[in-house]
Amino acid sequence: MNLHEFQSKQLLQQYAIPVPHGQLATSVANAVGAANNIPGSAWVVKAQIHAGGRGKAGGVKLVKSIAEVEAAASALLGKTLVTYQNAPDGQIVQQLLVEETLDIRRELYLSMLVDRSLERIVVIASAAGGMDIEEIAQHHPEQILQEVCDPFNGLVDYQARNLAFGLGLANEQIAPFAKLLKGLYQLFCDNDLSLLEINPLVITASGALVALDCKISVDDNALYRHKALAEQRDWSQDDAKEAVAHAAGLNYIALNGNIGCMVNGAGLAMATMDLIKLHGGAPANFLDVGGGATAQTVTKAFKIILADANVKAILVNIFGGIMRCDIIAEGIIAAVREVGIQIPVVVRLEGTNVELGRQMLRDSGLSIISAAGLTDAAQQAVAATKV
Ligand code: ADP
Ligand code: MG
Repeated sequence: MNLHEFQSKQLLQQYAIPVPHGQLATSVANAVGAANNIPGSAWVVKAQIHAGGRGKAGGVKLVKSIAEVEAAASALLGKTLVTYQNAPDGQIVQQLLVEETLDIRRELYLSMLVDRSLERIVVIASAAGGMDIEEIAQHHPEQILQEVCDPFNGLVDYQARNLAFGLGLANEQIAPFAKLLKGLYQLFCDNDLSLLEINPLVITASGALVALDCKISVDDNALYRHKALAEQRDWSQDDAKEAVAHAAGLNYIALNGNIGCMVNGAGLAMATMDLIKLHGGAPANFLDVGGGATAQTVTKAFKIILADANVKAILVNIFGGIMRCDIIAEGIIAAVREVGIQIPVVVRLEGTNVELGRQMLRDSGLSIISAAGLTDAAQQAVAATKV
């Protein structure tokens, strides 16, 4: 689960990490009020969406008068902002963060993430912070510094100093930088984060270190023990189909292909996607309808799959273990009748009462392609998209 910048900055403040003075606004009048509350005569109006690259896409506006705050807020609110990170769909701007402007001398990059291959939290830093970090990582990897944290010792002083020296910090910045890093590490562990990125971490004219931007992702599997964080989730930022699926208790992840997958069990769903790829196709989604799928769940799942205009065929791959195949067939038939599907549906059924289930599909009069196994199912689904 991703947090908005303003939510991430609230967390940073709880760990005594300096952030610019700022206030959230949800209307133009709000934004003007926020600017009036923040000392100074220049502000930054920042679109709150779950994607970076806002600066280059016009989502971060530096303004020098209240009239400009008003203009920036009305230009951004309600707009779908497309950045290189969320293209082509973009995300809707419903909230703005109005902040003081800082006199920036340097922009650094700093992040922490879980490196799965190392099974460790890794700190990444670069003197080349700001808006082009992906390019630096690709073309100048030597400018990316890294420290791997031992889970027992945590982030230790010499690692903080290594990074500080690598970043070319001045002597008087080393101690505050180490303190900031330790705060971030604590925040990361306490809240079960999978990513914490500050880009840029700036050095101001007075030599202070301030987190100017912040992106936080919380490990979904740990949300049950972070109720307050879980409540901050903004579903408007997720794929609309994923939000509907979540509400229906379905495990759905949208992908870029054209074969809609409806499968029971996460392992079988992964195997199904692999098979589609193996036979030259591309899955449009991951979808686990769960072990106890009912006719209603199957209908909902069909609707979600069909809401994706890219889907050219549907592959239903169900193993009737807990559920009987005849009940599943009944669900599929009812769903296809109710939803009125115009594209080919390939069904692979296996398990208890499979013969009865297959017979029911044949007798239904619906144009359902019955597959004789996993490979056949994948091949037929791929072929159906190529006609
Ligand atoms: P994004 O990463 O989505 O583009 P950022 O919050 O990093 O958004 O902002 C982009 C750039 O805008 C920053 O690198 C910085 O140069 C400038 N900026 C952002 N907030 C401020 C601020 N409070 N004061 C001065 N400049 C800012
Ligand atoms: Mg940024």
